[in-house]
Amino acid sequence: MATFSLTAINVGTFNLGEADKIITLFSREKGMHRAVAKGARKPGAKIAGKAELLNVNHLLLAKGKNLDIITQCESIETYPNLRHDLTRLTYALYYAELTQVFGQGLGEDCARYFERLTLSIGLMAASGRDAALLCLEFEFALLEMLGIRPELDFCVSCRDVLNERNVSAFNHELGGVLCQKCFYKIRAMANSAVSVAPQVHEDPSDNFRSEQRSEAIDSQRTNVYVTPLVWKRMVLARIGADTIDIDVNANVRDHANKSNEANMKMATSAARRLMQNYIEYKSGRRMRALDLLANLA
Ligand SMILES: [Zn+2]
Repeated sequence: MATFSLTAINVGTFNLGEADKIITLFSREKGMHRAVAKGARKPGAKIAGKAELLNVNHLLLAKGKNLDIITQCESIETYPNLRHDLTRLTYALYYAELTQVFGQGLGEDCARYFERLTLSIGLMAASGRDAALLCLEFEFALLEMLGIRPELDFCVSCRDVLNERNVSAFNHELGGVLCQKCFYKIRAMANSAVSVAPQVHEDPSDNFRSEQRSEAIDSQRTNVYVTPLVWKRMVLARIGADTIDIDVNANVRDHANKSNEANMKMATSAARRLMQNYIEYKSGRRMRALDLLANLA
C-alpha cells in the first residue's frame, strides 16, 4: 500500500462508525486533507489524544480508496497552556474554524499558512497579549494570504488617502473603508432611491437609473460606521500581522497605548466584530466558534 507523510494540525474532527474518527487536517505539504484515525475513540487508544483538535502531528498515511488512513502518528505540539484557558482555547478553535472554511483557497501558500497558523496558536497559548488583538492580527494575516485584505489606506470609492479625520464607514461589498465624502454620497443616493421607489416601478424604461439606485441601496446596507480609533486599531493590527517580530512591536504599541487602555480594548473588540462580519460576508457563512465567548460575557 502506498504511503506518504504529512506534518499537520487537526482543524476538525467527526466520528466514524463505532470507534474511528475522521480528521480534517491542515498540512504544511498539501494544505487541507482528510484522513481516518482508526480506533481514536477507543478508551486508552494511543492515537486518541493525538487526534484531538489543534494538536500538531507528524503523520504517516496509507492511501485509501476514498479516505487515507493514519498508520503512524507522532505528536509535535499540543499547546498545553491553551487547555487551561477557555477564552484563549475558544479563539484558537476559531482559527481552526477559519482554516476549515478558507483552507482550500490557500493553494500554493499552504506551507506559509501552516507556519502562520501554528505560530498564532502558539502566541495565543503562551503570550500574555490581549487575545482579541492577537485574533485580529491573525484575521488580517489570513485575509492577506487569501488576497482579500481589506483596504484601510485609501477610500475604496474615490481612492483618497484615509486619515483619522476623514474615515467614515467600512463597506463590505467594496472591501474596505470609505471616506466621509463618499459615504454621504452613497447614503444620499440610497435615500433618494427609497423616496422615489414607486416611480421606479411605474417607469420600467428608466432601467439604468434604477440599477444605479439599487446598487446604492445594496452598498448602503453593507456599510458599518467606523470611528477613527477603530480604524487606527485595524491599521495597527494589520502592521502586527505583517511583522515577524510580533512581540517586540507589541511592546512599543502597548507602551503607547497604556494611557488609553480601556478605549483601545473597546476599539479592538469593535474592530474584531467588524472583521468577523467581513469574513462571514466573504465566505457566506456564519462563524460559530466564538459564540461561546459571547454567551459567557
Ligand atoms: Zn472617497
